[in-house]
Amino acid sequence: MPSTPARPATSGADLGLPVVRPGDETAPMPLQMAPRRRGKPPKHFADLTPAERVASVEAMGEKPFRAKQLATHYFQHFTSDPEQMTDLPATTREAMATTMFPQLIRPTRRLEADGGTTVKTLWHLFDDARVESVLMRYPNRTTLCISSQAGCGMACPFCATGQLGLTRNLSTAEILEQVRAANKSLAAGEIPGGPTRLNNLVFMGMGEPLANPRAVIETVRALVAPQPEGFGMSARNITVSTVGLVPAMRKLADLGIPVTLALSLHAPDDDLRSELVPINTRWSVDEALDAARHYFEVTGRRVSIEYALIKDMNDHGWRADLLGEKLNARGRGWVHVNPIPLNPTPGSIWTASERAVEDEFVARLRGHGIPTTIRDTRGSDIDGACGQLAAEEDDE
Ligand code: SAH
Repeated sequence: MPSTPARPATSGADLGLPVVRPGDETAPMPLQMAPRRRGKPPKHFADLTPAERVASVEAMGEKPFRAKQLATHYFQHFTSDPEQMTDLPATTREAMATTMFPQLIRPTRRLEADGGTTVKTLWHLFDDARVESVLMRYPNRTTLCISSQAGCGMACPFCATGQLGLTRNLSTAEILEQVRAANKSLAAGEIPGGPTRLNNLVFMGMGEPLANPRAVIETVRALVAPQPEGFGMSARNITVSTVGLVPAMRKLADLGIPVTLALSLHAPDDDLRSELVPINTRWSVDEALDAARHYFEVTGRRVSIEYALIKDMNDHGWRADLLGEKLNARGRGWVHVNPIPLNPTPGSIWTASERAVEDEFVARLRGHGIPTTIRDTRGSDIDGACGQLAAEEDDE
């Protein structure tokens, strides 16, 4: 457990949810919608809209076209290093770069697995908050798992980040910097397999992206904007994963950028889901599934249902059947299920389901006609994507 106080000042009380009493160590973590820390990171070029970039450059007494040059360096060459910006006047290069590209994230640990094709980085932010990102290179695609918050307020008991509580939201540029850093490393050929670029992005690192909707939406805009205005990624290759914050899911549907939506369901019945994903006491399984279906209707994008298989907890055949029925009740062809064997967090009483149980769970869902694929567990040996590295550091 972290040495910093995990008990937040603002808690589930604001949501009409149970609050943990001091000294009651057996009680679950409280839900936490508001961050403990509010300090704002320095404003960065990647926080700005294209029009604001031009205005900032002009405010420095530079010609408007310099904004496009800076954007090309950042979003196309993945650099913020003034030395490399040789098309800018030598006299102002340094000043422009320092003002526009303050250092927001600093790598402090790097862990490799799978022969160097999986790389997890721990980043320290300006105020020493910590986040992680995980890069995973496959033969035909390269995925980055990014963080949208330092810690998380959703208190899911099986998730390492959930045990940390929420430190603060990341800014747009703090999220985009994780993407730029990964692209830079890929372009430089640092990952075995030759130079390449990122083509897949998942908001499955630390944090609940839809609890930080403004920054996440601005990030998505910059990810899909064509180069050099943004990274030029395809919306379908960006996955926003949520515990099921229903109003924000509906807002995301209206954004007009058809990213892939993943709903972390983990149980088809309210009794169990309220335990595994505490926000379920606010928005139930049915409400979350209705919002997921709505997302499909508006965007035409098939929704993913995430389901961590936990031994003797949520892996029963009847739960697979109930899930299949609830999904089919909302139509066909709109959803697929991604079970993933639980990656146990340190000290957790829970373990992953047995292989045969996992197979049966998948077979039952497929029996209901639901496309089902076991999610890859890459990086589990370096505690990939589950906040464990940052949690460990807090212990030190
Ligand atoms: N807050 C968002 C995104 C971050 S977590 C969400 O909950 O969807 C990304 C995914 O990893 C979620 O589906 C989450 O439930 C899952 N996850 C968290 N801890 C896990 C663990 N220990 N084992 C397997 N999956 C886990």
